[in-house]
Amino acid sequence: MQTLDNKWAVILIGPPGSGKDTQAELLARELKFVEIKSSKIIEDKFKLADLNDVVINHEKELHASGQLNTREVVDAWIIERIEEVGATGVGLVGNGWPREIEEVEAEMMAVEKFYPKDSVKIVTITLSEDESVKRNSKRRVCEKNGHPIQKEEIVVCPEDGSAIIFRTDDTPETIKKRYQVYMTQTQPVIDFLSKKGYNVITINGEQPIEDVHRDILDKLW
Ligand SMILES: [Zn+2]
Repeated sequence: MQTLDNKWAVILIGPPGSGKDTQAELLARELKFVEIKSSKIIEDKFKLADLNDVVINHEKELHASGQLNTREVVDAWIIERIEEVGATGVGLVGNGWPREIEEVEAEMMAVEKFYPKDSVKIVTITLSEDESVKRNSKRRVCEKNGHPIQKEEIVVCPEDGSAIIFRTDDTPETIKKRYQVYMTQTQPVIDFLSKKGYNVITINGEQPIEDVHRDILDKLW
């Protein structure tokens, strides 16, 4: 059923708490695709940056003070990564982009340089606001880099060894606000892509992880 010899781009979009990080990882592993995750790209850029890099230093400061990174800068990084992965001839799983209507055209143009439109699948994972609040209220992350930690038995971050904490910015109010930001900024991206004739697949995110994963695979082909 899985035509792995074809090159696919599967782009996951979903509100906070929809489990898209987990789903992106599962898909990338199962399909042997490369995941392109915006938060990971930013983290890597910070890690590998030359200390004198003015642009990255500015972005680091923004990040450290809790502000959003500059959209144009992050967009350029994402596009650069799409082109790197696309050029290697493997499939990609997109996670965390496009996030806003302002970036969608440039990013999809980069995608389509390597993946024909009928090989691009937009997977949107739905979740109610109540469920988003419920799930995000008990989110654990590592202290150093904020890596999300799902399994309860994990006591130090597998990636950087730092302690596990509850996210301090996860009050019901801030979670609701993030959900609303998603609905006003990212939902229009889905409508836009749908209108442009992309294959948009909608998945009910209010099911166990394995069921969401199976639903995605069932609907991809
Ligand atoms: Zn970590």
